[in-house]
Amino acid sequence: MFNKGTELLNLCKKQNKKIYEIVIEKEMNDANISYEELMDKMTLVLDTMINSSNSALDKEIISISRLTGGNAKKMENYKNQNKTISGDLITSAMARALSTSEVNASMGRIVAAPTAGASGILPSALITTKERFNLSDEDMIHGLFTAAGIGEIVAKNATISGAEGGCQAECGVASSMAAAAIIEMVGGDVEASLNAASFALINILGLVCDPVSGLVEFPCALRNASGVANALISADLAMAGIKSLIPFDEVVDAMYKVGKAMPETLRETALGGVAATPTGEKLKKGTL
Ligand code: SF4
Repeated sequence: MFNKGTELLNLCKKQNKKIYEIVIEKEMNDANISYEELMDKMTLVLDTMINSSNSALDKEIISISRLTGGNAKKMENYKNQNKTISGDLITSAMARALSTSEVNASMGRIVAAPTAGASGILPSALITTKERFNLSDEDMIHGLFTAAGIGEIVAKNATISGAEGGCQAECGVASSMAAAAIIEMVGGDVEASLNAASFALINILGLVCDPVSGLVEFPCALRNASGVANALISADLAMAGIKSLIPFDEVVDAMYKVGKAMPETLRETALGGVAATPTGEKLKKGTL
């Protein structure tokens, strides 16, 4: 039905539909299920996302390695003191992204969107946008389908694997999916969604994958926090009417090429980046 952003855009224009409507039709067709069955599945996905986004806000969830945990609660407490630098919306979004990352690191239930390592970004973006504009759960589900459409295009034409393309392919793509979803949730058009998706990916282009000790914990959780902030600001850039000079499909191609050009040390091997720092090495050996 569509493989590229341009094809999705043309379909939306031709049928006068939003991205989520096209994606819903495609999913029903691909999975051979009814609208009701599809909505039931997505409601389950959304519930899981909401739970993981909230679980670590009021209690510390510490990973087995003890490399991560407790930061979502710290961020939530900090936000509640009303003296944040970036404001309640951004800090609240970061707390929620950290929460899902901490749930993931402690082997809790999350939705990989597009991967477990980047699972904090999309749920937080959806909840933050819902709260900001007093939207419904249905709007969040529509956002999920929009995000799915963007993620599918990237998966088909590039990669969503840190081992193949670095963290730009995980947190970058999650951010891109979230930015497009936010736009549709707030009533932006398809062009704006693709512009926001482009901005989010461009902003993180070249981000390496360097998990300390080879565990999806640090710097992954931090990148989920910055990833949701990136999605929110990318959406605002697009809603302001700013357009991407480079079309979304070309941005996706560029991300893939950058990923291929990355040395293996920076693609989830834990042999480069912060994983290979003296402290990273000590943490790996358990001597710190
Ligand atoms: S640093 Fe690597 S393992 Fe961690 S979230 Fe990014 S891509 Fe995934």
